[in-house]
Amino acid sequence: MSELYSLYKLHKIDSAVYSLRQEAAGLDTGQEEEEKLKELAKVYEDVGGRAKALVNEQKDLELQQKSLAEKVAGFNKKLYDGSIVSPKEIENIEKEIKMLKALSDKHDTRLLELFEEAPPVVAEADKVRAQIDALEQKKKEKRDKAVQRHNEIKAEFDALKQKRPEVAKEVPKDLREKYEEVRKKSGDVAMADVTDDQACSQCGMHVPRKQSEFLDSDRIVFCEGCHRILFKAVPTA
Ligand SMILES: [Zn+2]
Repeated sequence: MSELYSLYKLHKIDSAVYSLRQEAAGLDTGQEEEEKLKELAKVYEDVGGRAKALVNEQKDLELQQKSLAEKVAGFNKKLYDGSIVSPKEIENIEKEIKMLKALSDKHDTRLLELFEEAPPVVAEADKVRAQIDALEQKKKEKRDKAVQRHNEIKAEFDALKQKRPEVAKEVPKDLREKYEEVRKKSGDVAMADVTDDQACSQCGMHVPRKQSEFLDSDRIVFCEGCHRILFKAVPTA
């Protein structure tokens, strides 16, 4: 096996590891949804709070109306069942009934307002709630998918890591040291393919004919643009 090819095999492993790392770092865990949810939570706090207040006010008034009606009915019963005869007492009860009815009328007016006011606010709150639920769902799906892919990446990563030492062993020590040096400098991959139109696959720099010939005789050649180690695929024929 050519020395450069043994190095290239090591590079393939390292570049696969690099790609997996990049992919893992870029996994979509629903961050965008999370941000939107934070905004919507604020919106819901407002509109949901208003809807709840209106609905509660309405319920409360309806209960009060019921109890007022019961009180009035009780007084009327007293007035007409003959149990009260004193004109003073009758007058007091009639006054009481009048007061209760006035209060009930006031409640009715407010209730009519609430029948108009509450439904659109409740509808708006429901709409925001539905948006929140949909986003929560989407976030969960993304997160589940990311976790699954992350586990796959981990498995692929472990397999490559396990395979690396035996592949590295095949590369002559000095060549491997040069490679590691370039890899450290580049921050990503240390080797680049020479494309069909004689350019570096990483930076696009033209590979002069002289260098190409060196590669053919298995000599180490650095790209003049990015300084990565160049590799020319061996023709399969
Ligand atoms: Zn280059």
